[in-house]
Amino acid sequence: MEQTRHAPPMDPPTGPLMGQMMHQALTISSILQFAARHYAASEIVSRPVEPDLQRELHRYTYRDCERRARRLARALHDRGVAMGERVGTLAWNGYRHLELYYGVSGSGAVLHTINPRLHPEQIAYIVNHAQDQLLFFDLTFLPLVEAIAPHCATVRAFVLMSDRAHMPDGSAIPNLLCYEDLLAGATGDHDWPALDENAAASLCYTSGTTGNPKGVLYSHRSTVLHAYASALPNVLNVAAADTVLPVVPMFHVNAWGLPYSTLLSGAKLVFPGAALDGQSLYALFEAEGVTFSAGVPTVWLGLVNYVLENGLAFSTFRRTVIGGSACPPALMDTLIDRLGVQVIHGWGMTEMSPLGTTGGLLAKHRAQPREEQRAILRKQGHAIYGVDMKIVDDAGAELPWDGATSGHLLVKGPWIAARYFGDEGGDILQDGWFPTGDMATIDADGFMQVTDRSKDVIKSGGEWIGSIDLENIAMAHPAVLQAACIGVAHPKWDERPLLLVVRRPGMDVGRDELLGFFVGKVARFWMPDDVVFVEALPVGATGKVQKNRLRDAYREHRLPGT
Ligand code: ADP
Repeated sequence: MEQTRHAPPMDPPTGPLMGQMMHQALTISSILQFAARHYAASEIVSRPVEPDLQRELHRYTYRDCERRARRLARALHDRGVAMGERVGTLAWNGYRHLELYYGVSGSGAVLHTINPRLHPEQIAYIVNHAQDQLLFFDLTFLPLVEAIAPHCATVRAFVLMSDRAHMPDGSAIPNLLCYEDLLAGATGDHDWPALDENAAASLCYTSGTTGNPKGVLYSHRSTVLHAYASALPNVLNVAAADTVLPVVPMFHVNAWGLPYSTLLSGAKLVFPGAALDGQSLYALFEAEGVTFSAGVPTVWLGLVNYVLENGLAFSTFRRTVIGGSACPPALMDTLIDRLGVQVIHGWGMTEMSPLGTTGGLLAKHRAQPREEQRAILRKQGHAIYGVDMKIVDDAGAELPWDGATSGHLLVKGPWIAARYFGDEGGDILQDGWFPTGDMATIDADGFMQVTDRSKDVIKSGGEWIGSIDLENIAMAHPAVLQAACIGVAHPKWDERPLLLVVRRPGMDVGRDELLGFFVGKVARFWMPDDVVFVEALPVGATGKVQKNRLRDAYREHRLPGT
């Protein structure tokens, strides 16, 4: 019998030919499952929050973390926490917080991390707005939770993230539970449920430097994509051989995704708990062999000062990401030139999960002189795949990428917010782009530089003056620790720059000397009109200088000659 030599003809395709690959939802629990199976013994080291436990570090492995996070998911289920319901946390960086990151989102509920540095009234507002069902908190925040508990209408139980020995004898908090008891009492084993990758996974509120805090509701998919992209060499470059210490708090935009990107990379993870001063951080960096860290400039100023003042050096620390506000060039130079630490400047925001750009050099920059390379590293950096960006004028017309023209910075991508939780603020996009509220230039190679936040821009005689540039110059003066520049009313020019300066301890510099330092570095009309020396600058809940408060405080300041 004649054999069929050809397969029967296929039906002609009617649509695109579809790929034939497995479908696996991009869920947060899949990161922990992978980590626990393939990097089971990778370590998670935490400095406990409980004062009597701080002499010893807590240690366990990815595998232990997965087991406990799964028990936590079971306990949430037992307590009737349903899919999509919000579970709040007020906690430092530590292993129990990590278990909540995975246990809550992995159970199908939504992890809502709250910044404990906010005003208690604002915290209560956020808890109510998010309709948190349970509120987990570290021992440090017991007094705070006692104060806000009567105002948290939706919270069914408050869970102290410690063991029985640390539970208070009596407390005004209604329905106070113990974290370790909750885990121990979970009924039986639990499997991670299959979830839709587009389901909500976590919720973060913007820190509210502009109006009421607004919630950004991340999905499993957006979180996993952000974690993948942020681990890339061009971005945070997290590798299995690293020891990662996130100084950036887990209540500040998910610690910039590090609790996810570190686990999918297999790296060792070190949590500093509540001890964020220079001395404690340095000791932990050295004891645990930290190679990579990330945080806002104010934290690095503290750590770097401690190291230099005590004539110390880092033995393993080689790389850091600095972002959240502009990294002062003087800080970058000190880290690179004196301490041998590579600095990656990162830019982003709560609405962007948060990473949008990171600094670095291109191959063609490698042969360039140091100063030219440094000028590139100082920029906020290059877009990460997944983020598109453009600058536009007031009318919305796109501006050239010439490195000089500054415009409103707009972004889009799969980990950028399309709206706020509860539709606060309505439709926030402009033709599908998210307006960041930052003013920036983009150069021909695609490097973005933030010139200002639109609301901080100083407008003098119809021209813009970039406050970040002026602050960076001031901070390059050896006697200046910190500087902030704001616009103050001027009868002729509308506004003129006023510089507020914190001197380095034990060092002196006067007004005229500091103004002289600007000569030749900026256009004449950019020169600050006056300098005020202050003891400290007001810093907000995410470690940024609060310029709105400075503007209020110096509204009546009389500039010389007015
Ligand atoms: P908030 O708007 O409440 O401060 P975010 O933490 O989301 O909350 O802050 C995002 C803003 O922080 C950005 O829009 C930008 O103005 C500023 N920012 C973040 N990183 C940098 C950076 N590397 N350089 C300058 N500004 C930055």
